[in-house]
Amino acid sequence: MTTVRNSIRNSCKQPLDEEYYYIDYGQRCHIVHDRNGIRHCFSCGRLIDPNIGGSSVVCSDGREFCTICSENGVNTKEMGAKALDTVYGLFDIAGITCPRNRISLELNNMFYAEQVLKDKKFYGLTTTTIYAMRNKPNTYLINIITGLHYEVFLGVLGHELMHVYIKENNIQLKKIDEEGLCELVCYYIYEARNSKVCDVKIKNMIESSDPIYGEGFRIMKKRINGLNSWNSFISQGTIQ
Ligand SMILES: [Zn+2]
Ligand SMILES: [Zn+2]
Repeated sequence: MTTVRNSIRNSCKQPLDEEYYYIDYGQRCHIVHDRNGIRHCFSCGRLIDPNIGGSSVVCSDGREFCTICSENGVNTKEMGAKALDTVYGLFDIAGITCPRNRISLELNNMFYAEQVLKDKKFYGLTTTTIYAMRNKPNTYLINIITGLHYEVFLGVLGHELMHVYIKENNIQLKKIDEEGLCELVCYYIYEARNSKVCDVKIKNMIESSDPIYGEGFRIMKKRINGLNSWNSFISQGTIQ
């Protein structure tokens, strides 16, 4: 929070002579707008409230996106397939192998998430089908929310694919460790992509107060820092 008295104006076009704070992407916001329920892009977090500047695109389930995310949003099977190829490429470099022919990807809106997946905070979900009785290998279905910026989507997809890896290799982890490990993969993808939206996502992860995702990520990040080798880290012995 900063209080200044000068002629700089923020996106609501009013002078910044009231209390305001900085948000990511260099935007500034009067505290009063926040109290009135300011709107952010679902995908990247930018301010998009038309009352204070910036236009937005609202999708059928009511989620709002900034124009940048809506232009780069993953909404089609083709974009999903392209993202899978990109993440598999990064996984290959890291030595993480996934059973590609047994993984399918579906994009779902928030209506589907609430009604079918029973998840109001849905981003991504991996479901495993186990055919133990018929001695057939597992299959995996990854569901991801529609409309995420391509770069954001890659991280979420990497997170879900790491759940597949863990299941496929029968690695037993506590929830906080498993989510932390998947978040660490997401972090490496954002680092490798090296874009503004990824930088902000990395910052959010580092500062996250979530007791599972934020804390798990920090625990795993600390563990890998002491090892210097991703390959030994992802082997069962190290992460348990
Ligand atoms: Zn956005
Ligand atoms: Zn997860």
